[in-house]
Amino acid sequence: PLIYYARESWYIKMTAVKEDIIRNNNTINWIPESIGKGRFGDWLENIQDWAVSRNRYWGTPLNVWICECGHMHSIGSIEELKSMSKNCPEDIELHRPYIDAVTITCPECGKEMRRTPEVLDAWFDSGSMPFAQHHYPFENQEKFEAQYPADFISEAVDQTRGWFYSLLAISTLIFNRAPYKNVIVMGHVQDEDGQKMSKSKGNAVDPMDALNKFGADAIRWYFYVNSAPWLPNRFHDKAVEEGQRKFLGTLWNTYAFYVLYADIDNFDPTKYTLDYEKLSVMDKWLLSKLNTLVKTVDEYLNNYKITETARALQSFTDDMSNWYVRRCRERFWAKGMEQDKINAYMTLYTALITLSKISAPMIPFMTEEIYQNLVRSVDKSAPESIHLTDFPKVNEEFIDKDLEVSMDEVLDIVVLGRAARNSANIKNRQPIGNMYVKAENVLSPFYVEIIEDELNVKAVEFKDDVEEFVSYSFKPQLKTVGPKYGKLLGKIKEALSNLDGHKAMQELNTDGALNFDFDGEKVVLGREDLLIETAKNDNFVTEADNKVTVVLDIRLDDALLEEGFVRELISKIQTMRKEAGFEVVDHIVLSQSGNDRIAEIIKKNEAVIKNDTLADEIVYNNVEGYTKDWNLNGEHTSLGVSKKG
Ligand SMILES: [Zn+2]
Repeated sequence: PLIYYARESWYIKMTAVKEDIIRNNNTINWIPESIGKGRFGDWLENIQDWAVSRNRYWGTPLNVWICECGHMHSIGSIEELKSMSKNCPEDIELHRPYIDAVTITCPECGKEMRRTPEVLDAWFDSGSMPFAQHHYPFENQEKFEAQYPADFISEAVDQTRGWFYSLLAISTLIFNRAPYKNVIVMGHVQDEDGQKMSKSKGNAVDPMDALNKFGADAIRWYFYVNSAPWLPNRFHDKAVEEGQRKFLGTLWNTYAFYVLYADIDNFDPTKYTLDYEKLSVMDKWLLSKLNTLVKTVDEYLNNYKITETARALQSFTDDMSNWYVRRCRERFWAKGMEQDKINAYMTLYTALITLSKISAPMIPFMTEEIYQNLVRSVDKSAPESIHLTDFPKVNEEFIDKDLEVSMDEVLDIVVLGRAARNSANIKNRQPIGNMYVKAENVLSPFYVEIIEDELNVKAVEFKDDVEEFVSYSFKPQLKTVGPKYGKLLGKIKEALSNLDGHKAMQELNTDGALNFDFDGEKVVLGREDLLIETAKNDNFVTEADNKVTVVLDIRLDDALLEEGFVRELISKIQTMRKEAGFEVVDHIVLSQSGNDRIAEIIKKNEAVIKNDTLADEIVYNNVEGYTKDWNLNGEHTSLGVSKKG
C-alpha cells in the first residue's frame, strides 16, 4: 500500500513575487492568447509557494548548509564552497554522495555546518535552462545575453504548470523579466476517435513507423495544415494521406511537369529573363498570386500563424496546378522556343522556385530536392542548400489586385458551372448554348472566353438579374399558418400549389406578403408563413454561392447534340489510338458500323474528325484493325482503327 504522510519541505515563497510574475507574463505573446490569459493567467492569480525540495538521492542537491546553532547558509559557487570548507576536494563532484561529505564552518558560531539532505524538484533544473546551459554567470556572459530572453519556445499544453511556469518563475526571481517573448502551446496528439493514445490500449502510433511509411515531410505537413497547433490532433493515416495528396503530390506533379518539358526542350532558365511586359495575362496572374503569397506567408509566419500559412501554400499550389498549368499546358507543347513558350517556362520556373523557398521551413526535404535539381544543377554559384537561401523578397510591381479579383471570379463561375453541368447530368464534352451569370463584377471578354472554353459553353452572358430563369414553389409553414388559419389550411395549400411561382416571388418581394381572399375571408401570408423552394425547371439549372449565380440553359438543339457526338467520337478514337499502341504521328484508317445516325454524323463532320484523329480515310458498315463497341450518349456503335499501311 502507498501511504502519504506529511514531511517538512523547503519552499520558494512565490506568493511574495505574485505581482511581478503576473506583470512579466503580460509581456509574453501567448499563442493562443486564451491560454496565457486563461489557464496560465488563472494559475498565476492563485499562485502558491513552490515546494521545491525532494527526499531523493538523484537530483541537483539543495545548496543549503545548516548549523546546530540554527544558522543556514546558501552556497552560490564552488569558489564560495571551497572558501568556507576545510574538507572540500579540489575536483569536487557536486552530486550526492560526494557533496554530502563537504562541511563548512558556521560564520556565526564557528561550528561545522552540514548540507540539508534534500535534492531539488527537477522543474527547478528545467526552469534554470536559459542560464544554466551556458554556465552563466560564471562564463559566457555575451552568449547568454544574446540569447536571453528567447524569441520563441514551444511545448505541449500540459506544460503550463511545468516548463512554461518554471522558466517564468525562476526568471522573475533572478532577473525580474519574462524569459521568452513568444510561446506556441501545442495540443496533444490523439487517435482517430479523439482518444488519448496509450500503449496499454494499443491505439498508440509509433512515430518511426509513421515516418517510415509517409516520410518526414508528409508527417510535418499534416501537423501544420490539419488544425491550429494548440488544438488536439486526431492522427490517422487517412488524414496524412489527404495532405500528401492535396499539397505534396500537387507540388511534385507540377514540378515533374516542368522537368518533363524542360528536359525535352533542354530549357536553361539562366539563359532567359522574365520579361513582364511580354507576359500573357495567365502569366501575370500567377506571378501576382505568387507575390501576394510571399507577402502573406511572411506576415503569417511573423505572427506565428502556422495553419494559415500551410493553407495559403496549399491553395496557391492548387491554383498553380489546376488552373495555370491546366490552362497553359499547350504552350509547353508548342514547337521551337518562341517568346510565348519562354514566358510560360520562366513563369512556372519562378513560381516553383519561389514556392519551394517559402515552403522549405515546413517541407524541408521535397523543397531541397526541387531546389537541387532546378537551381543548383544550372547554377553552381547558388547557395549549396535551399535552407541557406534568403526568404524571397516581394515584388510589389507584380501584384495586380484587379487581375486577381477577376480571375477569382472566373474560377468561382467555372466551379459553379461545373456543378450545374453535374446536376443536369451533362458531361463536359457536350457543348451547351448559353450560360447566364449574375455577379458583382461584369468580366471583360478576355475572361468570358476563358469561362466559355473551360465550361464548353457557346456564349456566357452577364445579367443584372437571373430571376427570370428561376421559379419557386410555395407551401404553408404549418407551425404559423395552422394556429392563424386552421380551418382554411386545405384551401391555402391548394391556392399555393396553383400559384405562378415566379410572379408570386415578385409579389412577396414588393409587398412582403401574399394575399388571398377565400369567399370574403382574407388571408395574408408573410415569409415566416411560407416554405419556399426553388422549383425544378426543365430548361435551366441554377447554381449559386454568396457572390455568384450561374444559370445554365440545358436545352440542346440538334446542332449542339451533333457537336457533342463529334467531340465524343474524337475522344473515343483518341483512346483507341492509344490502346492500339499507335504513335502520336501515325496516320490511320477509321472504320464504323452498326449505327446509321452515327454514320450520318461522321459523314457530315468528316473534315474535323479526320483532322483531329489523323485519319486519312473513313470506312463505313465494316470495322477493321483494332475494334471496339461504344455507347456514345446512348447510341451504340462499333469503331475500328488501323494504321495506314
Ligand atoms: Zn552556527
